[in-house]
Amino acid sequence: MRVLFLGTGTSHGVPVIGCGCSVCRSADPHDRRMRSSILIESSSASCVIDTGCEFRIQALRAGITHLDGVLYTHPHADHLMGLDDLRVFSSGGRFPIYGMKSTLDTIRRIFPYAFSSLPYKGAPQLEAVEVEEGGRFQIGDIVFTLIPVMHGMMRIAGYRFGSTAYLTDVSDILWDENKERLSGVRTLIIGALRDRPHWSHFTFDGAIGAARMIGAEKVYFTHINHETGYSDIQRRFAPYAESAYDGLEIEVDL
Ligand SMILES: [Zn+2]
Ligand SMILES: [Zn+2]
Ligand SMILES: [Zn+2]
Repeated sequence: MRVLFLGTGTSHGVPVIGCGCSVCRSADPHDRRMRSSILIESSSASCVIDTGCEFRIQALRAGITHLDGVLYTHPHADHLMGLDDLRVFSSGGRFPIYGMKSTLDTIRRIFPYAFSSLPYKGAPQLEAVEVEEGGRFQIGDIVFTLIPVMHGMMRIAGYRFGSTAYLTDVSDILWDENKERLSGVRTLIIGALRDRPHWSHFTFDGAIGAARMIGAEKVYFTHINHETGYSDIQRRFAPYAESAYDGLEIEVDL
């Protein structure tokens, strides 16, 4: 099974509009980060987690022609605002999106037309599939488990598939609740914003602490902001933890 990082940046993306810092002016292409999202592909299924503002650009760059579903972590703009571009995938019927009830309620409020029983011609036609915390669901041959985590004061969703977990925008992994659900995770993709503490995101060290608790063998940071450049992260944390970058592809177990 293949995971392709479509975007690895925080809510502003990198570079940040109007910023003249060294990372925003970096010539290293690894320092150009769109909003965080991944594509997961097996022999029978193709899914995306989150559709931020750049979803269209990311889908074109990755050559996506077909999707079987989109999984949402939470309804912040940087994870959601590309939703309208899912319209191309609903020409053959309602296209399924998965998430917690709270996330799907917000999506239905922001994009009511995508769920209308009398849809405007050409509008996306979506089916919201609610998943319980700890709930399992299957898309093709990929079995997902919804892992609840804290993002500041907000309870949001991470996802496990095979021995990989994708936990972005997380400040607490709720270890007591998720110990079993995260047992056996070998590859951890985890949001790590920067070095300075933040109330709703892990720092690099915080993310590594969570990874050690889980027992992950390999860590990929995502949702990174402009305070730390790619080469700096690699120098400090590789090989155990690496900075993901837009376009990075990894093989993981189903
Ligand atoms: Zn975010
Ligand atoms: Zn900057
Ligand atoms: Zn967020």
